[in-house]
Amino acid sequence: MNIHPDNLNSDAGHLTAGQCRLCGGGLEHSFVDLGMSPLCERFLTAEQLDSMEPYYPLHAFVCGECFLVQLGEYVSPEQIFREYAYFSSYSASWVAHAKAYCDMIARRFELDADSLVVELASNDGYLLQHFLPLGIPVLGIEPAANVAKVAIEKRIATRVDFFGVRLAQALAAEGKRADLIIGNNVLAQVPDLNDFVAAMRLLLKPDGVITLEFPSLERLIAQNEFDTIYHEHFSYFSLIAIERMATMHGLKLIDVEELATHGGSLRVYLVHIGSVRDRTNRVADVLAREHRLGLRNLATYLSFADRAQRAKRNLLAFLIAAKNVGKSICGYGAPGKGNTLLNYCGIGPDFLEFTVDRNFYKHGRFTPGMHIPIRPVHAIDLARPDYILILPWNLKDEIVQQMSHVAEWGGKFVVPIPDTMVIDPA
Ligand SMILES: [Zn+2]
Repeated sequence: MNIHPDNLNSDAGHLTAGQCRLCGGGLEHSFVDLGMSPLCERFLTAEQLDSMEPYYPLHAFVCGECFLVQLGEYVSPEQIFREYAYFSSYSASWVAHAKAYCDMIARRFELDADSLVVELASNDGYLLQHFLPLGIPVLGIEPAANVAKVAIEKRIATRVDFFGVRLAQALAAEGKRADLIIGNNVLAQVPDLNDFVAAMRLLLKPDGVITLEFPSLERLIAQNEFDTIYHEHFSYFSLIAIERMATMHGLKLIDVEELATHGGSLRVYLVHIGSVRDRTNRVADVLAREHRLGLRNLATYLSFADRAQRAKRNLLAFLIAAKNVGKSICGYGAPGKGNTLLNYCGIGPDFLEFTVDRNFYKHGRFTPGMHIPIRPVHAIDLARPDYILILPWNLKDEIVQQMSHVAEWGGKFVVPIPDTMVIDPA
């Protein structure tokens, strides 16, 4: 199947929950069922606590045809992303990661003042800001108006809109074509995947390059990262699925890098299928490894749910035992994945008295579903808890280092994924 952008209509991707959003095949195989859950970024104010809260199924399926792991589109992107609470700049390691990428990519593809770099879901400009000192023109596309406003204040050209064929055509009509299109942690969040990829192809200059970063499905399975499944992430990609997606849209996968971010991510490089750029050996290496690990075998996917359930039981067993002997426990962080974990396991303020976050937007609010209060980080120093459950476990090294002083009162960290583990900073 080869989808040419001209053949797409606006309804093309609005498939029912029972069809694969990439290849259109039937979705009949369950990957993991995490029960009913609220939207993981819908932090509540105190006034909202007594109101009804919408819950949606958090049930991931795997397509037996293309092996894309996916959720149904229970909620529209408009509901999710218009007022998004996630500001990328609040993680120091993430901003450093972005800068290293910009320096590398500008050198590798010799970007200059005549180039145009477009980032899809550009957030608060945490990444594009690093191109400005290099003199490389940029354009951010960001649907969340509150987040885009921060970027615009930093003088980063940003358009508040959803990216798709409609917008790509409008940009092309304005003479805007990209030498580099960046999509970091956005591909998973696109319900109409085929429209999005067709739009990237439309926006890309003949010699342009697309780089996409997304959490690796191989790592999700290997490291039991079931909590990275949430309604905002519609799709979970292996390189096998990415290659199929590229081919369907007249694109070519030429390179892949493996990154430590978000619990293990892939950065893929796509170009027009007729591009002279060669494919690196790394593509074949990763595809072969995924094959060896069984990612072309349905049984691999069907065995995942058991491991998620085991991790849930082990975490609850630890928390129950700690509470039974009078230990105090709080959380660190209020990331989206934390809310999947807390809701799936049923962990509320009866276990975690509060959690803390560096993002002031969340202070004074409550986690969706479980209603755990979110406080500034220094609340930990006042409460001196026995255990601190690290919800953004992908940042655990950074957090343990920053918070090592909890050893003064015997405080210890608990990491829930891949399985419950206690870290003693002393
Ligand atoms: Zn499929």
